[in-house]
Amino acid sequence: MRVNPENDFEVPEFKGKVTLIAASTKDVKLNFEFTNDYNRPLRMMVYIVRFAKHRASKGSDLKKDLPTSADLEDSLKVIVRCIQRKSFASVCRALENGNTKHELLSLRPFIDPVDKLLRVGGRLKSAFILYDSRHQMLLPANHRFVKILVRHLHETNLHQGQKGFLAVVRQRFWPLRVKSTIKKVIAKCVTCFRANHTTIEQLMGDLPSYRVQPPPVFHQTGVDFAGPLLIKSSSTGRKPSIIKTYVCLFVCMITRAHRASFRPIDRCIFGGRLRRFISRRGLPLRIFSDNATNFVGAHNELEELAKMFAEEENAKRIVYECTSRGIEWSFIPPRSPHFGEIWEAGVKQVKHHLTRVVGGHRLSYE
Ligand SMILES: [Zn+2]
Repeated sequence: MRVNPENDFEVPEFKGKVTLIAASTKDVKLNFEFTNDYNRPLRMMVYIVRFAKHRASKGSDLKKDLPTSADLEDSLKVIVRCIQRKSFASVCRALENGNTKHELLSLRPFIDPVDKLLRVGGRLKSAFILYDSRHQMLLPANHRFVKILVRHLHETNLHQGQKGFLAVVRQRFWPLRVKSTIKKVIAKCVTCFRANHTTIEQLMGDLPSYRVQPPPVFHQTGVDFAGPLLIKSSSTGRKPSIIKTYVCLFVCMITRAHRASFRPIDRCIFGGRLRRFISRRGLPLRIFSDNATNFVGAHNELEELAKMFAEEENAKRIVYECTSRGIEWSFIPPRSPHFGEIWEAGVKQVKHHLTRVVGGHRLSYE
């Protein structure tokens, strides 16, 4: 183009269009190696998401208040989504392209249109249960976050055993090969290890006849005390004193049905426990117990109880029939707790649950 210096002193300006395309080629990497705490990465993600929203919106104030439960729920979904996009990249790509051939075909996964999470399809679409339980979030096997999540659920669900705990995990999540993860987490749990100490077992003899012949429930009853447990004397006082309490356990020798009640031990109270048991479950034909000193007094009390029934001759006919049959009390031989394996097993169960649920806390009787 010619430029006449007399007429055109200005060179015409040409503006070219420049387009800058910026794309991140790196995946989002979440590192969970720094913590064993489930809540910490969730809270960190809340602040990251807030900052990202603040930068994207330009002008909105950065929220600085503590994360709410809704924030934590959102951040959990962000974390799960990041893990899924990295671990199930090929499955996500196949589903987005409408391709049905992928490695998780048996689970019939789909990408949730609302929160973009990869969920299990299953056959429970019409079931009347929570959406998360119908279509659980898919998680990869052996991921660090999965271990943290499983440990968190194990601790918040009272250290359940493997089978029951599997159902708890699958209420919301579907980690692949989760049974082995659960096994590893329970094996490393200090609380479970302390509670599951193994003892030497001995070869047992034949069961006695009253254990295998079928009378009504609680006709052959075993009784034992477990404890002591330390509880507060009241729930209202400022400085309640700590007192000892025992669990009084009645076990049916055939069906193993059991009934427990808590009370500070003394002979009088045991008589009360026994009367209440008889009122609710009927008169047992025979009661077995340890040969412990605390039952010697109770034995005398039992006779008093029988006398009390006998004196009330004009009482109802049913009571009269019960008293006429009487209760036979059998002590097992001294220093032979294996004779009372039924109630010892019941005591073990009670301790099993109390150790996990109560732990070191001091409860009141109420
Ligand atoms: Zn545990």
